[in-house]
Amino acid sequence: MFLMFGALIAAALLAPAAPAQDSNAECQNLDDPSFSGWASHAQLGSTLDRIERTSKGRVDVEVIGRSNRGRKLYAARVGTGDRVMVVTSAIHGNEKTGTEALLHWLQHVGSSQTAETRTLLEGITFVAVPMINPDGGELNRRQSDFPWSEVVQTYPQLAGAPPAWYYSSGAGGFDVNRDFTPDLGYEPRAEDMPGADELPGFYLTPESRTLRALYLDLREEFGGVDAYVDLHHMGPCEQIEGDGDYVTVTLDYPPLGPEDSDKYAGWPLLDQDKSRRFAYAAYLGMRDHAGHGNADQSPFLGGIARYLHPESRDLPGQARSSFALNGTGTVLFEVRGQSDDWGQKKNGQLTAIVEAGVAGLAQRLADGSVDVLDGDRFFDLPDYGWDD
Ligand SMILES: [Zn+2]
Repeated sequence: MFLMFGALIAAALLAPAAPAQDSNAECQNLDDPSFSGWASHAQLGSTLDRIERTSKGRVDVEVIGRSNRGRKLYAARVGTGDRVMVVTSAIHGNEKTGTEALLHWLQHVGSSQTAETRTLLEGITFVAVPMINPDGGELNRRQSDFPWSEVVQTYPQLAGAPPAWYYSSGAGGFDVNRDFTPDLGYEPRAEDMPGADELPGFYLTPESRTLRALYLDLREEFGGVDAYVDLHHMGPCEQIEGDGDYVTVTLDYPPLGPEDSDKYAGWPLLDQDKSRRFAYAAYLGMRDHAGHGNADQSPFLGGIARYLHPESRDLPGQARSSFALNGTGTVLFEVRGQSDDWGQKKNGQLTAIVEAGVAGLAQRLADGSVDVLDGDRFFDLPDYGWDD
């Protein structure tokens, strides 16, 4: 009896506090997940400092702006090539995996002495903007922290206008990933408020304006920004259509409505096939990673899918959409789960596969092989049951 009781205690001590680690374990949505395992904004700053220092000049970290609450917005640049790739993370503050993946990637390419890395860094200029919405990040929520009363102080011309449709009065902040428009010189006007999801956004937030300024600077320096990748999280309970595997990572090209529509005829640089080639290159990077003998990774490969993209989905106010209308090939990553649903081990695996996708596109951009991929191969990836 005593022994049996002891065994029960031992079993309880050994039971994982976190959810099961297997990718096909039951999914769960946590109302109030812990974010303690992820980098804070302060830790981001100190980690970038260390990466810059130990890279001995290879990685250059700059403060490119400030969030509405005054937090530093960083850009970390590495490489000397003509093709430019920009990657942002956590534009939705509580979607944290991408920041970790970017830090790990910067650490790697900042210190690696391999011929592969040398070729990569001669082929591209890579600019990471981790934690682009740190005010939301520190509050562990999607929106930024910018009450409408402060918006009107910043833009007096908006006094009396209704708040933009992507402003949350409950949160007192914005879905920053609706605050973009392809018109890169746009300034907010009262008559454009509140707008709608199928219309462009307004560059109201300091976060979107900082990213716009970076984009314009790079365009001036290089003649164009080749690639833009935005790193997000999605719900944990989606299953691949037909086989029941849980989705682990999804990829997408910009949601800009039916491709035979003339809505975007005024934006002739839009190239949806290019974005699909880039997304497929990211998938190939993930596949390379999974093929490197780590059996733990193989369930992830079966879970890579196309993100929700019915033909009618039309969101020009997303950063990726606005940049795509200016000729950039853009890719969305969505990782399963809202941050700390999984525990450290699984988070590490998901971070690694996101990094592999970023690396997959970066390498294929650097060596030019992305240009000869067949963009239609992107449609070979499974979906998770949404209707075209
Ligand atoms: Zn998101």
